[in-house]
Amino acid sequence: AKADGKSCVRTAARAIDSAMGRRARLARDLPAALEQEHFRMVYQPVVGVEERRILGLESLVRWDHPQLGTVPPDEFISLAEDEGLIVPLQRWVLGRATRDAAALHAAGFEVMTSINVSVRHLQAGCLAPDVASALAEAGLPPHKLILEITESVMLDAEDRLESDLATLKEMGCVLSVDDFGRGYSSLAYLARLPVQILKMDREFVADIERDERGATLVAGVLDLGHRLGLDVVAEGVETVGQLRMLEERGCRFMQGWLFGRPVDADSLPEVLTAFDWG
Ligand code: C2E
Ligand code: CA
Ligand code: CA
Ligand code: CA
Repeated sequence: AKADGKSCVRTAARAIDSAMGRRARLARDLPAALEQEHFRMVYQPVVGVEERRILGLESLVRWDHPQLGTVPPDEFISLAEDEGLIVPLQRWVLGRATRDAAALHAAGFEVMTSINVSVRHLQAGCLAPDVASALAEAGLPPHKLILEITESVMLDAEDRLESDLATLKEMGCVLSVDDFGRGYSSLAYLARLPVQILKMDREFVADIERDERGATLVAGVLDLGHRLGLDVVAEGVETVGQLRMLEERGCRFMQGWLFGRPVDADSLPEVLTAFDWG
């Protein structure tokens, strides 16, 4: 048992070592990746239940590392924030996503595109001007763009951050609270900030079929959002059972593997044309 314990400790140490090695390596490689644009955007459908079609596309960033393969955003967004590289990364994301959206718009597809925003970009004070110049360069109408902001951002929302969000709204962009209900409960911000969309965290959706409590929580979030006049999007919808329960409780917008995985921009015209209600 003693030997087992020791080898466990050694294995754990090695795991931590290699995890730190990977993070350090990604930190080292990030500046060159930005310079050489080793990033790619993928797009996941957001579906209107009543409309029975794709109303939106959420843009999600990927890092194609020459040696390590595809690195997911959960691994490098916080890294970019810590390394002071999030603003250039988000500028790249804004540029790519607005150009892809403008191309779809020009081809006659009536969809909104959402972009995930970093708090740090807002705190840096250049989010609104960066969004404005990306829209202008791409030739995308502002009302086609949704900015998704995680709730934790709102926790330290200062007056200036709020006024930057108000500026974006005045420009015509749509604001969305992302991951609603995860970890924080800044309910008061929902009433105060100029958001139009609430994205219910997928943990709620995962629990909806588990027991009465899970279903009650989902109904509560939907009711809260609707009473505040917001559109509520359920995230992480994976099963027909979840779809039915959400539908029964008045949820009109959904996103998740049931409707489609994230795809490259090239596939979007086909995905948008071929989308068939399951
Ligand atoms: P998020 O904004 O909550 O995005 C949704 C995540 O859930 C995506 O993971 C998506 O692939 C995944 N997902 C979608 N449907 C399902 C489902 O049915 N089941 C499950 N289990 N998962 C589903 P992804 O692409 O790995 O992104 C992770 C997070 O990274 C995002 O969470 C977002 O917070 C952040 N992120 C992604 N792209 C960007 C970006 O361009 N900028 C910033 N600042 N953050 C980004
Ligand atoms: Ca999001
Ligand atoms: Ca989310
Ligand atoms: Ca998130």
